[in-house]
Amino acid sequence: MEALVADLEGTPGLRVDEFPQYNGRSVYALTFGRGEKRLFISRPHAHEPAGAAACMELAKALAGWRDYGVRNAAWRAWVLAHFSITLVPDANPGGSVRAPVEFWDGTEIANEQFFLWMFGESGEEKGTRFPRVDAWDMREVVAPALIGIAYEQLEEFLYVEPNRDYRSTFFRSFFALDEAAAYDVWLDLHQTEFLNSDRNTALFLPTCQDELSLAMQTEHLSLTEVIMARWRQAGARPRERAEIPYRNNDVQRNLLNAVWRPISERMVHIVTEVQNNNPATPVEDQVRLQILAVLATLEWMA
Ligand SMILES: [Zn+2]
Repeated sequence: MEALVADLEGTPGLRVDEFPQYNGRSVYALTFGRGEKRLFISRPHAHEPAGAAACMELAKALAGWRDYGVRNAAWRAWVLAHFSITLVPDANPGGSVRAPVEFWDGTEIANEQFFLWMFGESGEEKGTRFPRVDAWDMREVVAPALIGIAYEQLEEFLYVEPNRDYRSTFFRSFFALDEAAAYDVWLDLHQTEFLNSDRNTALFLPTCQDELSLAMQTEHLSLTEVIMARWRQAGARPRERAEIPYRNNDVQRNLLNAVWRPISERMVHIVTEVQNNNPATPVEDQVRLQILAVLATLEWMA
């Protein structure tokens, strides 16, 4: 990704913003176009690679990189004229580089093992998961046997879940750029395993969806319907309808509302979930489905 960003730098009309992390890695935000409609796209979790690959494919297409320039000329001209689109392909590269293997597609790594990488393996009991928490301090826990790659290290001892703590580079990059851009829509590209399910895609509305103004509820719902239709058309198997996560879990809902409600109240924020680590959804399909969600979002915004 670093090599490709370096290669793209200097592309006319591309702005690259860099946000350093504690561990020395940088989060890159690639902004294309000067249109009036403003879209922010990010990949928050390091164990969910399809969104990162999708963002880089979109960056190549928008930059007209090598033969992408020939193949996507009309689409590129349309996007650059009508949109300002920011891609944050990896909001936690420091987590990504801690991954124990270079890639996973569900043929070699069992989910039980994969789960230990996400949020870590307990240092107290081998083979059990380290808890998923918003933030934790190495001095206050039994050191995990493996630090979850989803966590971002902020200081010597401090780690955060990027999606749940404003101190993460994920949120810092958004707030820094949003100040000038005032984005209309934020699409977050996530992945999950869809255990014991024949589905391979889903969309999440904000946890505070029911408390939003009727107009914002309608906007959110309407975008999910367009993405869902696009996925079905492409042969994906999305869940029946977009969901409001943690509806019956006050603790989780309140935690997420505290972070996301001020954002969801003023802009449309939707989460995609594409199946991860399962041969039922090969890696090419994972990337294609994330790209289709972005394409559908652009058409919806237009
Ligand atoms: Zn995620």
